Amino acid sequence: MNGPVDPGPGHAVARLRAACLAHDEQRPRLDRGEPRRPRCAGCRLPPTHCACALRPRVATHAGVCLLMAPFEALKPSNTGWLVADVVPDTQAFAWSRTHVDTALTALLDDPRWQPVLVFPGEFAAPGRVVGELPGGPSASGRRPLFVLLDGTWAEARKAFRKSPFLDRLPVLSLDPAQLSRYRLRRAWHAHHLCTAEIAALCLAMAGDVHAAGALEAWLDVFSERYLRAKQSLPPDESDAAHRRLAGVAAAGTGDARPASMAR
Ligand SMILES: [Zn+2]
Repeated sequence: MNGPVDPGPGHAVARLRAACLAHDEQRPRLDRGEPRRPRCAGCRLPPTHCACALRPRVATHAGVCLLMAPFEALKPSNTGWLVADVVPDTQAFAWSRTHVDTALTALLDDPRWQPVLVFPGEFAAPGRVVGELPGGPSASGRRPLFVLLDGTWAEARKAFRKSPFLDRLPVLSLDPAQLSRYRLRRAWHAHHLCTAEIAALCLAMAGDVHAAGALEAWLDVFSERYLRAKQSLPPDESDAAHRRLAGVAAAGTGDARPASMAR
């Protein structure tokens, strides 16, 4: 496709999507089984179900770095986009086996950040695996940067195995007990956690509790609207997801965390 592409909300994933649309003429159809219809450039929902006016944005101590599989940024159901909606300090890069963006390596080397790769520990060498954020002198004063592999499970595993530049990062393995409690609590994505859910767990771990709640609520509202659009039902602003998001928005950004951790 040639010509200008609406960058949408202008965050990292929207920019990546615009770049994919501008440069990739061979991209596959990602909306198989669904009629093509216009989508809002801000939230990717049909205009009748646009949620842009509800989008929360919460400053955080931690940051998120998304490594996105090919075409992932183009999928209307991608949830890395929702992370970038809520967390201003989200960066997104296209993952490739043969090319590493110098901006990505610069970010991972930036002394202001303490990067950790979030991935199941069973796939990593035991010496790399941590169950919580690295502490101690090397981490003092550095903000956690959660590196998430955004794509299908097969794509994420491939990126994990074939990215030498990630090999030096500690692997943060989320606690299985915590994950299963989380799955019980939430009906959406019963079999695996999506990227936005993993990001919410990470933010909560870093003390960004308000942002974690906002991201979960935003994911729920997005998911509800996405499904209702598919079913040709109007959005229901009185449902539980919308009420929860409104509650999160009303609670403001007053995160309880030590002043020393604030920016
Ligand atoms: Zn919208």
